[in-house]
Amino acid sequence: MQSKYSLNLGKPFGIRVSVHWTFSLLIVWIVIMSVNQGLGLSQILMHILFVLTLFACVVLHEFGHSLMAIKLGGKVQSITLLPIGGIASITEMPERAWDEFMVSIAGPLVNVVIAALLWLYIDIFHGVGIDQMEFGRITATNFPFILMTANLFIVAFNLIPAFPLDGGRLFRSILSLNMDKLKATRIAKDIGQVFAILFILAGLFFNPFLIIIGFFVLLGAKAEYEMMKYKDVLKNYKVGDIVKTEYETLDENETLGTAADKLAHIYDRGFVVTSEGKYAGLLTKSDLIKGLSTHGKEGLIKDVMSKNIEAIGAGISLFDAYREIHKKRYDIVPVEKNGEFSGIIDLESINEFFIIRKAMG
Ligand SMILES: [Zn+2]
Repeated sequence: MQSKYSLNLGKPFGIRVSVHWTFSLLIVWIVIMSVNQGLGLSQILMHILFVLTLFACVVLHEFGHSLMAIKLGGKVQSITLLPIGGIASITEMPERAWDEFMVSIAGPLVNVVIAALLWLYIDIFHGVGIDQMEFGRITATNFPFILMTANLFIVAFNLIPAFPLDGGRLFRSILSLNMDKLKATRIAKDIGQVFAILFILAGLFFNPFLIIIGFFVLLGAKAEYEMMKYKDVLKNYKVGDIVKTEYETLDENETLGTAADKLAHIYDRGFVVTSEGKYAGLLTKSDLIKGLSTHGKEGLIKDVMSKNIEAIGAGISLFDAYREIHKKRYDIVPVEKNGEFSGIIDLESINEFFIIRKAMG
């Protein structure tokens, strides 16, 4: 999730917690539904309070996953709240099947604990028995009970084996105890997509949120399986294995017009720019297009080139490089070896490498 569309809430345990802007649509939706039902202001506020409290439980759920992942050696960048739930962006996941099991179960377990605490609270302090509560609308009296039920619902829903929901991850981790992870992912993905279609169908009749969740599962399962296939091949190679050491070079004092004329004759998605014969940066196609529209043909390369694209080490795994380049949406990236510029790499050449290796079996 890009942070410019999200509101930062803080950074506990080094994990950035933010709310995506679409979350405000959920609040608007609640207000509209409440007004339509003819509810008063205090009732509307009660509904909003309930949803905010419920989403606080969702954040704790994501912290369950995140802190377990960190404990087992993983890395977590952020937790983002969306109207359909939370997403923990775990950038490095522990590899072993049992670790994945622990990370996946930790989230739902948090909601079990919350539900148990609410149950204790209701039992000891509340004074009003469940049989005496009214459930027509949310009130201060039935609030903790409905919150407890909602937490149990989160647990039940997340345990459906619809990969990449928690239940699907649990299922995959159990499968991958006995088979290789790629195959386990494929089976989990297929089952996840069946559930996704069921969610979408059910959503048409019951709750439109199920449609969104259905699409989320459908696309998420496919994306993760594709990523897994890449990983399976690319983890065995290093950036240095496919770094391009032949590339087009331009001096930083040449014009954008010269670059534009040359562009048609090259395969790469940009040029290596030098200053007095030494590497100085890259001129990507998008730099060039942007530069031409602001500076014109006579503009100089040095004024529009990318000087700060972080170089990737020749020794890092090709899969890590792929993820990095993908995430930052670069056209091309410089590669360094022993602190010196040694060539370039781009997504296209990684893709080609992947396809060829895969075809070779
Ligand atoms: Zn979860």
